[in-house]
This record gives sequence, C-alpha cells and structure tokens, in this order.
Amino acid sequence: MLLGDGEILLPKFIDQVLQVQHLPRVEQLPIFAQIEGVYVPSLYAPKYSCNGELIAIEGIHAGIPTSITKQTWKGNTLSYSKVITPDAVWQNIHMVEIVRSCPELCRFCLASYLTLPFRSPSLEDGLIPAVEKGLTATKRLGLLGASVTQHPQFFDLLHWLNHERFEDIRLSVSSVRASTVTSTMTKILSRRGCKSITMAIESGSEKMRSVVNKKLSEEEIFDSAQYAKEGGLTGLKLYGIVGLPMEEETDIEATVDLLLRLKRKISGLRFTLGVSTFVPKAHTPFQWCGVRPEAKDRLKVLTKKLKPNGIQIRPESYGGSVIQALLSRSDRRIAPVIALVRGSQNSLGSWKKAYREIREKNISNLNELTMSLPKLPSWEEVIHKNWDHSQVLPWAHLQGPLKKEILIQHQQQALNHHFESNQEK
Ligand code: SF4
Repeated sequence: MLLGDGEILLPKFIDQVLQVQHLPRVEQLPIFAQIEGVYVPSLYAPKYSCNGELIAIEGIHAGIPTSITKQTWKGNTLSYSKVITPDAVWQNIHMVEIVRSCPELCRFCLASYLTLPFRSPSLEDGLIPAVEKGLTATKRLGLLGASVTQHPQFFDLLHWLNHERFEDIRLSVSSVRASTVTSTMTKILSRRGCKSITMAIESGSEKMRSVVNKKLSEEEIFDSAQYAKEGGLTGLKLYGIVGLPMEEETDIEATVDLLLRLKRKISGLRFTLGVSTFVPKAHTPFQWCGVRPEAKDRLKVLTKKLKPNGIQIRPESYGGSVIQALLSRSDRRIAPVIALVRGSQNSLGSWKKAYREIREKNISNLNELTMSLPKLPSWEEVIHKNWDHSQVLPWAHLQGPLKKEILIQHQQQALNHHFESNQEK
C-alpha cells in the first residue's frame, strides 16, 4: 500500500519494482518497505494485552521502519484525466483537480485533514495547460477538489472560461464554499451549462457548525442561495450530516427550520438536502468518536419534516454508514468476518450476523505468522463507543499530516464550543 500522493510515490516505487523484479516476492517485500510511504502490512504484527486490547503494532523484522509516513507532493501540478471515454463513470468529461486538501479543517473531514497541506497550482503554469489539453478531446470539463472555490485564483479561472471560445463547453464544479458564491460566479456557471451548485452546510444549527469548525453564517447561506437564483441556476444542493459528536435534537430542528426558511424566502429555486450519518475518519480530530445510534431516527425526522414541504431529501443509508464504521474502525481481526460475509447480501444484517458468528465461535484468525489473534471486541465497542485518547488505534503505525496531540487539541476546541453554547442557553 502506497500512502500519500501518487506523483511522489509511484516513480520511486516503479523504479524499485524494476530493480527487484527478478527476486522472489518474499525478498521483494522488505525492500519495498524501505521506500518512504510504502506500507507492507504482512511485515507488521499487532500485539494485544491478555484482555484483547491492541497495545502495539510492530515491524516483524529488524530494519523495518517503525512507522510509515504519508508522502506529500509539493509540485505545481495536480492530476487531470489521462483517458477521456464514454465508458468512464463520468462519461467524456475531462476532470481537472484544481485544489488538494482544504484549509478549512472541519473536524470530521478526511478530505481536509488527511491530505494536508492545502495545495493549489498556479493558473498559468498548472491549471490552464491542464484544462487546454483535455478540451482538445471533449467539450465537457469538470473542476475537482474538496472545495474548489478555495483556489486563490478560482475567479480568474472562471473568467478565463467565460471567454467566447469556450461557448460550447459544459462545465461542472464539485462542491463550492457558500461564503465564496457571488452572482457573477453563478452567472458564468449557468452560461457554461451548470444547473445547480452544491454546498456543504453540515447542519442548520449555528452551534453545530461551530463544533465542527464550519465557518459559515446563516446570512452567507441565504446570500449564496439568492446569488444562485440571480445567476440563473435552478437548483441548490446542500449537504448535511447527522449524528455528529455533541449534536442534540434541537440541532436537527434547526436544520429543518433553516431549510424551510430558505425555501420560503428564495422561491423558484429547487432545494435538495443530501444527508449522511457521521462516520469517524482516521487522522481527523473526531477519529475517537463513535457512530451515534440516534442518527437513524434523525435521518427519518429530516425526511418526514422536509419532504412534504417540497424539499428533496436524499438520506444515505444508516446501515451503510455502520458498515463503513465497522471496516474503518476494526483491526486485523475483522478479516474472517469479511471472508464470511462474502457472497451474502451487502446489508447491515449480513454483517452483524457474520460478526456475531465469528465472535461467538471465537474463530481466531491465523495470520501469515500463524499467530492467533484474540476474540473480536463487542459490536458496541467497535461501532458506537467513544474511544479513549490513550487507546492504541489500529492505524497508530501510519503517520498522517498532523500529530495526535494536535488532533486532540482540535477535538477539545469542539468540546469548548459545545459547552459555551450550552452556557449561553
Ligand atoms: S469546507 Fe468542506 S472540504 Fe473543507 S474541511 Fe470543511 S467539509 Fe472538508
């Protein structure tokens, strides 16, 4: 597994492959493990305490790095489509990545935290040549990034694309930051074939937006909806999350209230709310927080209150989020569960059944060293429990951009916002 940006990892890795390809695999792997950012799982073994707690993950050979650091590309280019075809998932679209990571640091956000630092290639030497290249092959252009309007020259890029020679280009942009939306921006997007824009507001509750570090005021949300309408767009897609740490029922009510007020005030615009359940992501400040079972009902509340009032709502499956959490929070003991569930329906029920079966029978997984692993933790522990900072995480040997102490500080700031807001009440 190569941890980090392909631009920096792939050339080193491929060079090494070419040098050692004549050797047997067992001799190749320790050589690959010496390349910075290359993780060879079979060369690391977990250690457990007698009560089954993970206490360390260590290299099994002398000379294997004790931890693997994610590699970061710092050049003035990012990626763009190399093959444009009607057979792609996004048919015939030339995709250009215009930013990597996001400086906003919303505390749940993998796209920001795991890919830090924020990078944005310059227009002249990076983005314009990348866009021009693809437009010789297709008329459809997609600008990609965690939050594309964060690019310091995003508006210059839009103005450039507003030129007559791009008249027949159809442009799509991924999610934009509400506070950067203007009517000039929406006019250009509309002229280039965009029907709607997407903004992640996370929650209608001001308190929750502070807790997650979403620096977005209600006024900015209303303004951007107004600009979307003025620019000639027909829809506004909003993204939200339920089950966030410290979220209360009143925060869900605040989301309903905000959406209904938006719909009333900005008539004629189609509002859609995509909403998912919070799943903790490794290397973010909320990595220690569990999935909250209340999320299931909160998704239903949003659907029940918004749908009859003309707001399209697209809730993600709660069960799917629990499966995500199971896969991302488990350690190697999950392997026999994955094997058992294979071939059955991909439903939460199938995963739960397989988990219970392996756990009850205490079928221990035998890894390549024939070391038996202890019993699986309880379902509650792996999915819902908030983990202690002192706990060794299954990814403790993989170093992300920020140290654990910094992530803890960011989590503490979230708690402070929660307490301050409760005191104000
Ligand atoms: S603004 Fe969006 S991309 Fe940026 S950190 Fe927040 S959620 Fe992530």
